Amino acid sequence: MDYRVLSEELQAMIKGQVSSSEPMNKHTTWRIGGPADIFVNPASLEDLYQAVEYARNREIPLTIIGNGSNLLVKDGGIRGMVIKIGRGLAEISVEGNSIRAGAGAMLPELAAAARRAGIGGFEFAAGIPGSLGGAVVMNAGALNGCVADVLTSVLVLDEHSNFITLAKEDLGFSYRTSALQRMQLICVETTWSSTFKDKALIEEETREYLSKRKAIQPQGFPCAGSVFKNPEGDSAGRLIEAAGGKGLQVGDAQVSTKHANWILNLGNAKARDVLALIEKVQGLVEDHFGILLKREVRLLGED
Ligand SMILES: Cc1cc2nc3c(=O)[nH]c(=O)nc-3n(C[C@H](O)[C@H](O)[C@H](O)COP(=O)(O)OP(=O)(O)OC[C@H]3O[C@@H](n4cnc5c(N)ncnc54)[C@H](O)[C@@H]3O)c2cc1C
Repeated sequence: MDYRVLSEELQAMIKGQVSSSEPMNKHTTWRIGGPADIFVNPASLEDLYQAVEYARNREIPLTIIGNGSNLLVKDGGIRGMVIKIGRGLAEISVEGNSIRAGAGAMLPELAAAARRAGIGGFEFAAGIPGSLGGAVVMNAGALNGCVADVLTSVLVLDEHSNFITLAKEDLGFSYRTSALQRMQLICVETTWSSTFKDKALIEEETREYLSKRKAIQPQGFPCAGSVFKNPEGDSAGRLIEAAGGKGLQVGDAQVSTKHANWILNLGNAKARDVLALIEKVQGLVEDHFGILLKREVRLLGED
């Protein structure tokens, strides 16, 4: 297929940006990843629908991403069409103690809307750089809360191009996981609710939580947050540090010397460097503790 021609054809049908051979390192917080054959950034729900139909009618494989903050895209890139759910689907509205928000809105925006309305329970979201769609897929969370605590339902576009609403109970949430990880569903809208709480208290707790994050998290290099899930009852960072993994390096990929569960891109790291480092760290922790760390970051694309 000539993806440049297909991109131009789709571009003539929708308002959002369409490109071919788009470097995915522009769309991941790790700043790593080869090109996507076709890349679409829909300007609206209508755009998204059209792009999905366009791909499905031509049997072009489809990959959905959000802010790319939990993604390792391989160096060969992604075949077919990548759709980024972002600013075109980012509207937020508040009614009473409920919030409705497009899947492209960001977690800190959701936290800010809740804070302004005096709704508690969203403080955890203030520091996580993910879109709401990605956050639901990952059941993102931190310190004192996670998506599953405050989400009510999601509106998804299913594999037959029908919009359906799924309640939180249908989403099989557990630690950093949801059933959406195994389904071909595109999350387009989210609804949330929680109880009212004193605004000053929300603000104070958010400030404290953000400064705590800043103190423990590495700054200044591209990354994807925690690379591994915490094993039951322990912390991946503690295990990696105790096994001597801090500072390990492959190419420009380095296990942070500040937080051992983070891998930093010191400049020109490739996905193959990160993958080799991930294997090294897993081997080290398994040799020391007999525990196989599981990846939290999602792997996309080909070598
Ligand atoms: C500095 C930093 C700090 C972080 N701190 C935390 C933290 O404290 N807690 C935490 O849980 N995570 C943290 N993360 C990881 C990340 O921010 C979260 O996992 C986030 O929820 C991912 O959202 P995203 O929009 O970036 O998703 P992406 O990384 O773009 O995608 C993640 C997965 O969701 C799928 N997906 C994305 N959007 C949709 C959609 N609309 N419909 C269907 N599928 C979709 C993708 O295909 C992929 O499988 C951190 C990352 C960074 C870089």
